[in-house]
Formats: sequence, C-alpha cells, structure tokens
Amino acid sequence: MDQEAVPPHVLIFPLPLQGPVNSMLKLAELLCLSGLHITFLVTDHIHTRLVKYSNIQSRFNGYPGFRLETISDGLPEDHPRLELCLWKSNDVGLPIIYVRTISACCLWVFFCLPKLIESGEIPFTGNDLDTPIKSIPGMEGFFRRRDLPMFCRSGSLSDPNLNLYLPEATENSRAHGLIVNTFDDLEGPILAHIRAFCPNLYTIGPLHSHLKYKLPGQSLSSSNSLWKEDMSCITWLDSQPPKSVLYVSFGSLAVMTKEQYMEFWHGLVDSGSRFLWVIRPDSVTSDPMDIPSELSKGTKERGYIVQWAPQEEVLAHRAVGGFLTHSGWNSTLESVIEGVPMICWPYFLDQQVNSRYVGEVWKLGLDMKDTCDRVIIEKTVRELMEYRKDEFWKSADEMAKYAKQCLMEGGSSYGNLERLVNDIKAM
Ligand code: UDP
Repeated sequence: MDQEAVPPHVLIFPLPLQGPVNSMLKLAELLCLSGLHITFLVTDHIHTRLVKYSNIQSRFNGYPGFRLETISDGLPEDHPRLELCLWKSNDVGLPIIYVRTISACCLWVFFCLPKLIESGEIPFTGNDLDTPIKSIPGMEGFFRRRDLPMFCRSGSLSDPNLNLYLPEATENSRAHGLIVNTFDDLEGPILAHIRAFCPNLYTIGPLHSHLKYKLPGQSLSSSNSLWKEDMSCITWLDSQPPKSVLYVSFGSLAVMTKEQYMEFWHGLVDSGSRFLWVIRPDSVTSDPMDIPSELSKGTKERGYIVQWAPQEEVLAHRAVGGFLTHSGWNSTLESVIEGVPMICWPYFLDQQVNSRYVGEVWKLGLDMKDTCDRVIIEKTVRELMEYRKDEFWKSADEMAKYAKQCLMEGGSSYGNLERLVNDIKAM
C-alpha cells in the first residue's frame, strides 16, 4: 500500500487532569500540523468540560485527521475527582511512547526512589526537613528532604503514591520512547542522567509555545480550559502599570484551608503590591469565605479576583511582574517562557522538586515551601516585586531567551519535535 496515502495514526490518552489535557492537546495539534492522524481519547467528564469551556471543537475542525473520542472513568458525575488518578499501561502490542508532563528533575527523583529506599534516606518522618539528600546523582549539595515529593514524608514504605512511582525507571525504559515537556537549556544535566535509562528521549518543551511560532497570531486564542476563563481580568490588567501586578494562582487541583487563604490574603494586601488572584470555587476546604473588612479596602484598591483566568495570556501581559504559583509544571514553563519571576508555594507531587529548582538552581524566584504565614508572604512578595526585582527579571529574561531559541528552527525542541514526527512516520 502507498505509505503516503494513509498517514500514521496516533492515539493520545492524557491523564484526566487540566495540566496533562492542556499540554497533550497542544502536542496533538502539533502532530496534526505535521500531517499525522490523531485520536484524542478523554474521559466523559473531561469531554463535557472541554466542549463547554474550551474552543477545541472549532479549532480542530481545521484538522480532518483529528478525532475526539470518549471513555467513562467509572465515577458518578458529581464526584469531586480531586485526587490523583492511578493508571497502568497495558501491553497492547502497539509501539508506546510515554509523554511526561512533569519536570525532568522530578522524573529523575522518581527514577531514584529505589536508590533512596536502599540508602535508607526515605521514607522519613519528623521535622528534620533540612537534612541533605545524598543518593540522587546530580542533586548533591542543594537537595533536601523538604524538596522531595510529599509522599516521601509519610514514614511508610506502603504509601500508595510511593508505590505508584517506584517502578518509573523500569516502566519508562520499556517504552519505545519518552517525550518530556522540557528543554535542554533548562534541564540538560538531569536529562543526561535520564538518557542512561531512556536513550530515545524527546525533549520538546515548552510544549504550549511551539504553536506561537508555527501558527503566529492564533495561539493565544487557543483555549484548552476545563473552567470558564474570565476575560475581564485582561481589561483590568490593561489599566495597570508595567510589571506591577503579582499574578496568584495555585492551578487546577490544589485545595487550601480557609486559614491558609486568610494568610495569603493578609500577606498580599499587606505587601502593598497589586495582585490578580485566581480563586477556584472548589479550592477551599471549608465554607465559602467572607472577605474580612480590613482586607476589602486593599483588595478593592489593588486587587482583582477571578475564578479562572486565561493564564498564558495573563503571564504574557506587560502588567504582570511576578507569579505566586503552586509550581505545577505547566505553570512553571508558562512563566519561564514569558520571563516572569516566581514565588513558589508547592502543594504536592512534582511541585516540591520544581520549586527547589526555581529558587536554587535556575534563580528564577523564591521558594516559600512549608510556610504559610502572612508576615513571610508579605516579605517574600516585597522581595520579588520590589527589593530584588531587577535581579530576578534579569535571570528570568535570560532563561526566556533560551526557551524561545530552542523552539525556533535549529533549536533543540524544534529539532526533537521533527525527529519525533519522523520516527512516528517510520514506525
Ligand atoms: N490555568 C489556567 N487558568 C487558571 C489557572 C490555571 O488556564 O486560572 C492553567 C495553566 O495555564 C496550566 C494549567 O492550568 O496550563 C495548570 O497546570 P499545572 O501543571 O501548572 O498545575 P496543576 O493544575 O496540574 O496542579
């Protein structure tokens, strides 16, 4: 049969969470642009929300080789679905390429979990969170217990999350290839370690930004949101001075107590900084919050609150001067490519690792992990937005330049994406 007549068909099945759905839809669009046929498989729940809130249906109409298919996740419609889903790959006799939507540094920590157990460094309990970690090659000297994923703190070898990630090195090296949403200039030394396990590595990140170069003018209007984006915050940002606003968002999964929210609220208002804050309605553990009167004045004067923002557009806005983030990997990369310095308040999974890299290795911001205190929040915001503003903007600018270069012709992610497409076509 004429190979040209039937383009190869790729089945993409993301974890049913906002981050992976977002980045893998971008990957799907890139593969469609290269002439591949794609079936994008999502759960019914994700499908309903994508159809309601994103513009994927109109966007993908332009790709005749794209099909959106659904599958049940077996949960009732009103289930909160906030916990991490477990998954297991089955051998279906087809070539499988894994896509990791977490950082390479966290993936490497997962690969080293057996070694950490063997050396007795995990699991642990107690308060000695500054104890250095010695058994992760490439992270000696700056990596501490508190920078490990939260499940290492449980004190138990039977922790379900620990057991979920324990076989990562063997699982990943069994696949035909491994796609990581990162770029060589950001995580080169760690990628060299991962390559020893998975030689066929495609580093093609920041995934969301390829489309900016391949489809200039269109990418900001491409939304893969599972919530309704409140565009009024862009109008508000338009009226703020350059680099004056701290954008605050803890992603799609983090849940906080009312007390933690109050600490952030006081810290933000007391810092005197302007802020745009995303408060998802399902992100507070107890009853809905009333804004205490002492906060409402400062919030009215300098703040703006939405339930969900067009985040990529916000981070690209000239008024944004910093990002208070939970250090989710998509958020981190979106901030890196726009050159926006970060304050990190990691919540779980890879975020503890990411925030250490942002603060200590890449020098792109400040890591506030394991504290939630209004005085520290105020001080950290002032440091990022005022006292050390120039220093952080300089390093963020530099890294953004590297990120953009790697996406252009001749750049590492550009080349790796081409290699990926050619390899799929040759399968
Ligand atoms: N996001 C968004 N609007 C918001 C908050 C988040 O569009 O108000 C997007 C953000 O751009 C990112 C994703 O949601 O692509 C969050 O993914 P991330 O990996 O940062 O964190 P997670 O939600 O998985 O914890």
